Amino acid sequence: MKMKQTTVIAAPEIRFDNSFAALPARFYAKVEPQPVKAPEILAVNVPLGEQLGLAPDWLAGPEAMAVFAGNRVPEGAQPLAMAYAGHQFGHFVPQLGDGRAVLLGEVIGTDGVRWDMHLKGAGRTPFSRGGDGRAPLGPVLREYLVSEAMHALGIPTTRALAAVATGESVLREEPLPGGVLTRISRSLIRVGHFQYFAAREDVLALAMLADYVIDRLVPAAAEAENPYLALLEHVIATQAQLIAQWQGVGFIHGVMNTDNCSIAGETLDYGPCAFLDGYHPETVFSYIDRMGRYAFGRQPEIGKWNLLQFAGALLPLLARSEDQAVRLAQQAIETYDDQFANAYWDVMGAKLGLSEKREEDQALCRDLLKMMQDDLADYTLTFRLLATAAEGQDDTNGMNDTNAAADLAALEGQFADRNRWRDWLARWRRRLQAEQRPLAVIAEQMRQVNPFLIARNHRVEQAIAAAYRGDLRPFEMLHEALKQPFEEKPHLAALAAPPKPHEQVRQTFCGT
Ligand code: AMP
Ligand code: MG
Repeated sequence: MKMKQTTVIAAPEIRFDNSFAALPARFYAKVEPQPVKAPEILAVNVPLGEQLGLAPDWLAGPEAMAVFAGNRVPEGAQPLAMAYAGHQFGHFVPQLGDGRAVLLGEVIGTDGVRWDMHLKGAGRTPFSRGGDGRAPLGPVLREYLVSEAMHALGIPTTRALAAVATGESVLREEPLPGGVLTRISRSLIRVGHFQYFAAREDVLALAMLADYVIDRLVPAAAEAENPYLALLEHVIATQAQLIAQWQGVGFIHGVMNTDNCSIAGETLDYGPCAFLDGYHPETVFSYIDRMGRYAFGRQPEIGKWNLLQFAGALLPLLARSEDQAVRLAQQAIETYDDQFANAYWDVMGAKLGLSEKREEDQALCRDLLKMMQDDLADYTLTFRLLATAAEGQDDTNGMNDTNAAADLAALEGQFADRNRWRDWLARWRRRLQAEQRPLAVIAEQMRQVNPFLIARNHRVEQAIAAAYRGDLRPFEMLHEALKQPFEEKPHLAALAAPPKPHEQVRQTFCGT
């Protein structure tokens, strides 16, 4: 479907209710999305649209496409590019901002929640610096797939409402087809927003931003004795939870800069992100992360580092005296390690089928991970197959089943040292006995937390490569399959399988 560029018309189907645009002018730059030549809608998320009160007919129609392409500014929108700063790979940049994205406005969903509606790849803004304001289609489709996959895994994330091909090309190392992603978020406010005003010593703006966030995202903090401290504590808690969940599914964000660290606790800004195949904590996919700053195993400590920057930006609000502010910030940050450790053990304990935490469980998990690391055992497959191993404990039980036997052989096949593996397995099985729950129940619960299917990097890359050739079927198939990641579906075995050596993707690119 090709559309001619048209003038601005009303699209009352989107009922905007904008609050960020009511903040003072120094919070953003008013800027409209730049129209594109020949938009074509590639994906639209009807259930999410419905959650935002958008009618399926409208979502499928030409008006929605024009809005999602940035060719029409719907009535009620107040498009703007947000101002923010950020630490990029540890270096502070006092002004970043939305250089290729435009916040159209906010929508109150049928769930009563206020959602940001954002176009990414929508053209140049006053924050574009040297950039072209555009996004290649590949990263747009990657974000669409991976963010929706994260949502289906139950992990807080921005969502994808639509992906549009622009009909224009974007020059990177080579010319690539352009795309625009419509993203939906609880709020796109980042740690970098606070750093922006802190760096300018604009304490008034800092307080207004903090009040805005409290009102919108953390209303309970308003009741606290020190609301700004309560805000800091809330953000620490949500980041600890979020990163624990990333570690649980083997997700590597790739660019954990403070400008990509969401105050709403969502996974934000999908760039060179990827899921682990073989487990190794030093795994890095991002082409630009040459030092491994954002390697899989470093994510928890980087999360803490980012929170420290957040706390630093909040200092002028925490207390009148600087000493007292620093003390409060430090106390709050010091809780992170325990909060993360608790959240992480909740996640990993559930992955191992354990309902209560015991002293020896951490060693059990650590020893499994160490063994996996030594053999680069597939992270997703190993944990998924452990459910069969839990059930197959009793020889009269699942072991007679040929599928179960194949699963167990595949599991054992992940490890070179059979004796080491069998020792660990025996230890874990003894621990499961102590759970005093039926093994079938434990196995079923394990399958609810250990996905059968993740957005395997090689499959994502294949889907993007096919889309570049004009074939959207692999993208659509993968997207459809990822909606129910915990359901074991034999016809999806190929999508679920780890990459063969020649299929392995070792690097991903931001495409910025
Ligand atoms: P990212 O690494 O994608 O989080 O982006 C970091 C900063 O660079 C943000 O301020 C982006 O808005 C900006 N940026 C990234 N790509 C572009 C682009 N193609 N044009 C303009 N600004 C960009
Ligand atoms: Mg970013």
